[in-house]
Amino acid sequence: SVTFSEVAKRYGDRPVLKGINLSVTPGEVVAILGPSGSGKSTLIRLINQLETLTSGDILIDGKSTRQLSRQALRQLRSRVGFVFQQFNLYSHLTARQNIALALKHVHGWRPVEADTRAEALLAQVGLADKADHYPEALSGGQQQRVAIARALASSPQIILFDEPTSALDPEMIGEVLLVMKALAHSGITMIVVTHEMQFAREIADRVVFIDGGHILEVAPPEQFFQHPSHPRTQRFLQKVL
Ligand code: ATP
Ligand code: MG
Repeated sequence: SVTFSEVAKRYGDRPVLKGINLSVTPGEVVAILGPSGSGKSTLIRLINQLETLTSGDILIDGKSTRQLSRQALRQLRSRVGFVFQQFNLYSHLTARQNIALALKHVHGWRPVEADTRAEALLAQVGLADKADHYPEALSGGQQQRVAIARALASSPQIILFDEPTSALDPEMIGEVLLVMKALAHSGITMIVVTHEMQFAREIADRVVFIDGGHILEVAPPEQFFQHPSHPRTQRFLQKVL
């Protein structure tokens, strides 16, 4: 589980998140929606400490993530995968190498075993035949699927997605959403910042709407999309639906 307890984040003296409370249960799929600049990326980047929080705490499985040792932070990051909008693959490494890299160099796996695991993950995202391809020889949708496989390499319990389809050509969005859909059914906890309303509607257990640094609404998708209770949610949905 992931629990935000009174989390606040400022950049300099500019408040971005204020008093965030949210609990995501194991296996749950949560979609984060909100206008541009509302702090969605910041919210999920705080979880694996790509950003440092200003106050409050984020608990993973009930344990504080404040003031972790380097070793504990490394452990946290292996339990929490992250998929970025811009894939962030290493261009000088093949798909297999991108996935196996951390297994070999962070987790101490033997090269043969890391490569075998990488190939199994490539098969899982439908890219069994692309192991030796470099990112530049892959489409955007394929690169993002490699990035998802890489995020899964250390068998995380939680995977965070920051607009995973926003950088893709429209015809490639579907293949990435399909992989995410399969993952959602696998029991992993997912927190997904997305503009894909259809995905949120179909896949999320709950939808979280943030604006002005606050969570304004948390609801199951049927309720969120059909009967949003906050006027700002209603206005947001009128614009995007
Ligand atoms: P988008 O939908 O455009 O991705 P977002 O909801 O993800 O937006 P964030 O990226 O979390 O929003 O940013 C929230 C606010 O914090 C924005 O006003 C942004 O300009 C600011 N911000 C984000 N990162 C930093 C940073 N490293 N330093 C200073 N300000 C930042
Ligand atoms: Mg963002």
